[in-house]
Amino acid sequence: PAPRLHADFYDLQAALTDGERAQLGRIRDFLQREVAPRADEFWERAESPRHLFPRFAELGMLGAGIPEVAQYDNSALYRGWVALEISRVDASTATFLGVHSGLAMNAIWVGGSDEQRERWLGPMARGEIVGAFALTEPLSGSDTARGLRTTATRRVGADGADEWVIDGAKRWIGSGAFSDITVVWARDTGDGEMKGFIVPTSSPGYAATKIERKQSLRAVENADITLTGVVVPESLRLQRIHSFTEVAVVLRLTRAEVAWQALGNGIGAYEAAVRYTGEREQFGKPIGSFQLVQHKLATALGNITACLAMCTRVSQLQDDDAQTDAQAAMAKAFVSARMRETVALCREVMGGNGITLDYGAARAFCDAEAIYTFEGTHDMNTLIVGREITGIQAFVS
Ligand code: FAD
Repeated sequence: PAPRLHADFYDLQAALTDGERAQLGRIRDFLQREVAPRADEFWERAESPRHLFPRFAELGMLGAGIPEVAQYDNSALYRGWVALEISRVDASTATFLGVHSGLAMNAIWVGGSDEQRERWLGPMARGEIVGAFALTEPLSGSDTARGLRTTATRRVGADGADEWVIDGAKRWIGSGAFSDITVVWARDTGDGEMKGFIVPTSSPGYAATKIERKQSLRAVENADITLTGVVVPESLRLQRIHSFTEVAVVLRLTRAEVAWQALGNGIGAYEAAVRYTGEREQFGKPIGSFQLVQHKLATALGNITACLAMCTRVSQLQDDDAQTDAQAAMAKAFVSARMRETVALCREVMGGNGITLDYGAARAFCDAEAIYTFEGTHDMNTLIVGREITGIQAFVS
């Protein structure tokens, strides 16, 4: 079994099965050996570690939550721990994987017909096809449920079969500049509802440009995408998607995992801070002996422990098929906020060294910002919880 994490103060990992803990240990070894040594390099170059894809596939990390392609039995709780472990080493790598395995594969699993699942999920689980998920647009971020401008128009093609013409623009699409397929969400000009399409990125009219100069999750390659008269056959329309309701199911499945990712990012910074404060001396003593430094470390560990308990429970609810949108939203909002505070404390106890990549907190500090904002901003997830409490939807007039 994986050795217990120092930051797992209440030994919440005990809730995993022995088999899951053994597999988690293998993944942790892989991350230490193959991801940790080069994470700063990829972050600085603003490049996704694409060469790792076959290794993710070998370790069963692609589509682990999808029964048809999972290599072994596992729970949502286990997958949360995997997200934590990856993010503990590198939040960009966790996001890169989350986009493919969480967003794109789950979209096809939730929305695809049996044939579509069969056609796409196997190659995606084997890492042969890289997927992206395109919901956000330049003019529509938090309000995509009603503000989406990308359109899909059904028509009869030259061969007499039904096809769709997609027009619009997408922004912030993780892996969108090099993915093989992108799941594109568009408004049906017929019934006005949202539809999903598996768009091969080689399609004429699909163009993607990498977004440069990002200062958070730099090793995630986000793209601006334009779709100009992209023709997609009916066989690539996700057959079980009828409206935003089904898209929300995909987002709920991934949102709780993003909470785990936020947590892992915080734990990485916390572990670095504990090491640093034990070694760095001022006034003739390790700074870890000062009360104010201990207070910051204790606050960080308190945040981590509370968030780990919350993440554990929200994933157990998913395993019981009982997790609600508001429960997932609360986990994402609460954990990403607490972890934003935690990485700031961890950076702070490192003084000036805390702002260089060399000491293990600066990258986590920067990455916490994007995690706080994507998969529903902190505000939007908070308002989903607010709606649950009051029965009043505050974000739509
Ligand atoms: P806006 O919606 O413009 O929000 C700006 C501010 O206004 C926020 O603080 C927000 O909370 C606030 N606000 C908006 N409406 C309300 C309201 N009604 N009440 C109160 N406050 C409000 N998208 C994809 O589709 N696919 C991806 O792979 C993807 N990856 C991403 C990766 C990164 C690194 C980042 C940064 C983003 C990614 N996104 C992706 C997009 C992400 O989901 C959006 O950035 C997010 O939903 C917020 O949208 P926005 O940036 O347009 O902000």
